[in-house]
Amino acid sequence: MTLQTIQTTCAYCGVGCGINSSVQADAHHASVQGDQQHPSNFGRLCSKGTALADTISLNERLLVPEMNGHKTDWDTALNAVAHGFAQTIAQYGPDAVAFYVSGQLLTEDYYVANKLMKGFMGSGNIDTNSRLCMSSSVAGHKRAFGTDTVPGCYADFELADLIVLVGSNTAWCHPVLFQRIKAHKEKNPQVKVVVIDPRKTQTCDIADLHLPLKPGSDVSLFNGLLVAIAEAGKLDADFIRNHTDNITDAINCAEINGDINSVAATCDLNAEDVREFYRLFCATEKNITLYSQGVNQSSAGTDKVNAIINCHLATGRIGKAGMGPFSMTGQPNAMGGREVGGLANTLAAHLEFNATDLDIVRRFWRAPNLTEAPGLSAVDMFDAVKTGRIKAIWIMATNPVVSMPDADNVKAALEACPLVVVSDCVADTDTLRLAHIKLPATGWSEKDGTVTNSERRISRQRALFAKSGEAQHDWWIISEVARRMGFAEAFPYQHPSEIFAEHAALSGFENNATQRLRDFDISKFAHIERAAYDALLPVQWPVNAEYPEGRARFFADGLFFTPSRKARFIPVRQRWPKHKTCAEYPLVLNTGRIRDQWHTMTRTALAAQLNQHIDEAYVDIHPQDAQQYALQDNAIAHINSRWGKMLARVKISANQRRGEIFVPMHWTGVLSRAGRMGALVNPVIDPDSKQPESKHTPVHIKAYHANWYGFILSREPLPWPEAEYLISIKGKDFYRYELAGSGQKNLADLQHWLNGCTGDSISYEDASLGMYRYALLHNGRLIAVAMLSRDTNLPQRQWLGSLFNKSEIDSRGRAALLSGLAPAGEDIGRIVCACFSVGENSIKNAIKGGCCSTAQIGAQLKAGTNCGSCIPEIKQLLGAK
Ligand code: SF4
Repeated sequence: MTLQTIQTTCAYCGVGCGINSSVQADAHHASVQGDQQHPSNFGRLCSKGTALADTISLNERLLVPEMNGHKTDWDTALNAVAHGFAQTIAQYGPDAVAFYVSGQLLTEDYYVANKLMKGFMGSGNIDTNSRLCMSSSVAGHKRAFGTDTVPGCYADFELADLIVLVGSNTAWCHPVLFQRIKAHKEKNPQVKVVVIDPRKTQTCDIADLHLPLKPGSDVSLFNGLLVAIAEAGKLDADFIRNHTDNITDAINCAEINGDINSVAATCDLNAEDVREFYRLFCATEKNITLYSQGVNQSSAGTDKVNAIINCHLATGRIGKAGMGPFSMTGQPNAMGGREVGGLANTLAAHLEFNATDLDIVRRFWRAPNLTEAPGLSAVDMFDAVKTGRIKAIWIMATNPVVSMPDADNVKAALEACPLVVVSDCVADTDTLRLAHIKLPATGWSEKDGTVTNSERRISRQRALFAKSGEAQHDWWIISEVARRMGFAEAFPYQHPSEIFAEHAALSGFENNATQRLRDFDISKFAHIERAAYDALLPVQWPVNAEYPEGRARFFADGLFFTPSRKARFIPVRQRWPKHKTCAEYPLVLNTGRIRDQWHTMTRTALAAQLNQHIDEAYVDIHPQDAQQYALQDNAIAHINSRWGKMLARVKISANQRRGEIFVPMHWTGVLSRAGRMGALVNPVIDPDSKQPESKHTPVHIKAYHANWYGFILSREPLPWPEAEYLISIKGKDFYRYELAGSGQKNLADLQHWLNGCTGDSISYEDASLGMYRYALLHNGRLIAVAMLSRDTNLPQRQWLGSLFNKSEIDSRGRAALLSGLAPAGEDIGRIVCACFSVGENSIKNAIKGGCCSTAQIGAQLKAGTNCGSCIPEIKQLLGAK
């Protein structure tokens, strides 16, 4: 077997880690390691990146085109898509069609999709799921800088003396960048870290100061900082005079918030903590403010971004080593989408909807039909589908039925839409279930192109394997539809390098001070050939005649991209979320991500080890709120909002503020019966960025009174049992179903649920306690085990799941199997370290045995020695000893 090493990039978050993959193409096998040479991660990977090789199986892939539930050939499917879109445009006009695309697409896919919709179909109706992730940063950048420019780079975090993390659980959502920050702080103990987040997250593990501010009060906090900067005499007068406009208005507006005590009261913070934060910021020249979804996903997200940028402009701390505001993107290629115009309100190559830019794009593409107006952004787009204004939609590499706010409305919209086309690499998602036409796209291990990470670094994603089944690259699928719609001349591509070269050429086209100067310029690659494209090394744009090797930082020269070349201070006022809590909906719902899952789990849930750390949709709630609403830890709660409802497992946590709950975004209708968080979320959007308010929905919570709780572990997937609460996830060598419901269940129900499995049964029951246990074995191997109880006190699934690895369960094991009690030392407990599958019980035992530091636990168990994301939890276990 031939082993080949291929350099590529991770499929998940905006850190954009480089990967070295050892590939055995003939065996469809690969292993991954962090690329030591890649400047984003220098060899590190988090648990998700480490598990990428476990997601490449073909079992769950969509491999053949389908129409109306039947397999078909590509020609038929592509003709149907082209015909459907052409007919809809002919009958109802171009704004009756739409594309909803994704930060998972490669830049080349994205470029072609945008070109087809805006340039040739003639509508602006292409928007991306990045709208949900960072469009407030885009809008804030444009207001302040004139362009959507991230000023700095990751290296700045290792040069800063103060790192402020706002609305970002960096430890879980951007783990490798967090590890870089942590290592920098460990080497330089004088470095301070301030975390600003309503929740006390794992990121607080390295915080010198945590400000658990009232949700939505960020503008007040940073307006207060702007005033404090002025009062401390820390305004950079030269920079402000020579390179900015409008500071007086910004400070006047900021002063409305009042003094520090007033700010602290508005933000529900301790005034001394606010004072300390302001003192640190004013006193520390080299500081960087990272912000993420906690800032962006808000109806005031753009104002929050500008409130932060204002403070950096006021101190002149921007674009210099170790200084600046820094927006972290969620997705691997959210940035690439911004470059090609994936948002409905931008054109390609950072060009805008104005006469000059439209003319540039029209002439470059030779596209007389270029749309002249922005299209509908995500929330408005699905509303237009619901009302019938949009009659044909093509969704690429994303799962809006789960991830969009008011997700039940999105589901209903697609159910009523005359033509729904979905391209995806996996076979089953909530959105694919509603598609009339399913198009099999290549997955991460087969794709070939480029992505851009949060620091503007373009990296190659390279194929590890040839295309599987009949799957095709997204750029090919889109180009084939374009050709069938009569646009063959504009879509002649045979290889992604040709698309990248065209994209690069457009970025440099008439891009100069006398015509139309833009920040995004990779014109050095305008004539790139395939060999050079294949060998392309990671590089930060711009890459042009002036910066042939790329540019780490913008704006140190004080030159921005506004007409005056000066940055703009934006006066911003505190605005609160539209929907407030009330007697009916008294709690604020916050949403976010967990450590080991990515978005709607369509790929990470394929890796069994990523399903072990947190295995169910849950709700974090403060202990006093739990008491008030009569919720027990580990029981199940009903959560309702005006828009929808869900069921989630209760976790009582003092890390939550009172009156606020947190639910992860990941669980879907494919993985749960009632775990779709998006159904709850209000569809309110920011007026500037159109980004939805995903972090603030008034909700009600109450106990779900189940008559029974249970679970099934089965070697084969099973039809879903009747149960109001149901979570279905994959374990190593088994499938797991967590269940709860009303009515009465007994042994006969367990037998019925396992009806499709064959084997010798063993069982135990105590009807008086409502306890039923049933297992099937075949030739000594465990086939399935199912258990029921009247309460949540059921045996640990971790140990029972490990029995599926055994070739035979002996008689002692069979007795233990039904008791659910592992023989001493065999139950490792809930997984804490996903990289090395180290469980909580193993760590507790190591602590009992004398380990008293994370280093000692790492040396004994390896836990925490790869990505390090579990270290905060190991510390908690150490602290609880
Ligand atoms: Fe992938 Fe993790 Fe790196 Fe993000 S931090 S790019 S998920 S390995």
